[in-house]
Amino acid sequence: MTALQKLQIDFNNLTDREKQNFITGILAQTTGQLEIIKIKSEINQINKKHCPHCKSHSIVANGKNKGIQRYKCNNCGKNYSENTGTSLAHLKKAHLWKTYISHMFEGKSIAKCAKLTGISIQTSFNWRHKILSSLQSLSPEKFEGISESDDIFFNYSEKGCKSLTRKPRKRGNDGIKQGISEDKVAVILTCDRKSHKDIKVAKRGRISKADIENVLSDKLDKESVLCTDSHRSYSAFTKAHNIKHEKIHARKKQYVKDKIYHVQNANQTARALKDWMTGFNGVATKYLQNYLSWYMVLDQIKNKTNKPKEFAVAALISTDAWFLFKNIALNHI
Ligand SMILES: [Zn+2]
Repeated sequence: MTALQKLQIDFNNLTDREKQNFITGILAQTTGQLEIIKIKSEINQINKKHCPHCKSHSIVANGKNKGIQRYKCNNCGKNYSENTGTSLAHLKKAHLWKTYISHMFEGKSIAKCAKLTGISIQTSFNWRHKILSSLQSLSPEKFEGISESDDIFFNYSEKGCKSLTRKPRKRGNDGIKQGISEDKVAVILTCDRKSHKDIKVAKRGRISKADIENVLSDKLDKESVLCTDSHRSYSAFTKAHNIKHEKIHARKKQYVKDKIYHVQNANQTARALKDWMTGFNGVATKYLQNYLSWYMVLDQIKNKTNKPKEFAVAALISTDAWFLFKNIALNHI
């Protein structure tokens, strides 16, 4: 008896209710797959196909395996598939990915996404971070014109780590020193007036010129004007890179300089980000960048007509997602 014949017999033995559930389940899986294929072909049009190992465009199609297109790179000789390096790589239940990401887009918790998708909580956790690792590739390449930078701080956290390198903090805020200490993680937030935004984890404690260089040196140039509140490291950075620097002295009640220079967009984004982050109930520092990228992408797509689809594209577009996900544990700062 063929597998199909056996399935037909089993199907006939189901109650009407069970038959209905079975058909709905199969349909959800198939349409989910079809939509992923559609999104992927759109991504291939935006992003000329390249080898995820060496980035060469000299590639040839090399057959299909279980419906997944395979390629061979003429430059490095490696074989790979259209899922290699993406958030779909090595996913045993890839047909459930579409269901999962729609729940994730709606902001449902890891446990809720697991239940609604029919996967374990650990798998749900891993999928969330594979997807967020893909979102990291969406930070802007350059800022244009007047830009604003601000550093904001989150509590350092080793939540979920088995071996703590620091004493667990007591309940409440007793363990946190006042001011900027090693207990705080500095994040550099930058935006321009064309809605480009970048939010990057810099280091524990107070930031230096070198930290700003790591995050910003490729993204600003001689045409840029950088507005910050008065902070010595930003002055040193802009001076070294020949960038015009406008210091806003908020403490002296100066909020706008020459009618155009201010840091109000950065401040507003910082407040919105802090608000959004409180919904997650404390994020371990090694995952902080993923959450910042999540916020950035939601902000980028907020005026698009089909937001869930834009989110799915962002979650599939990077071929560095798998690598970034595998290395999350090394995100020690
Ligand atoms: Zn290659």
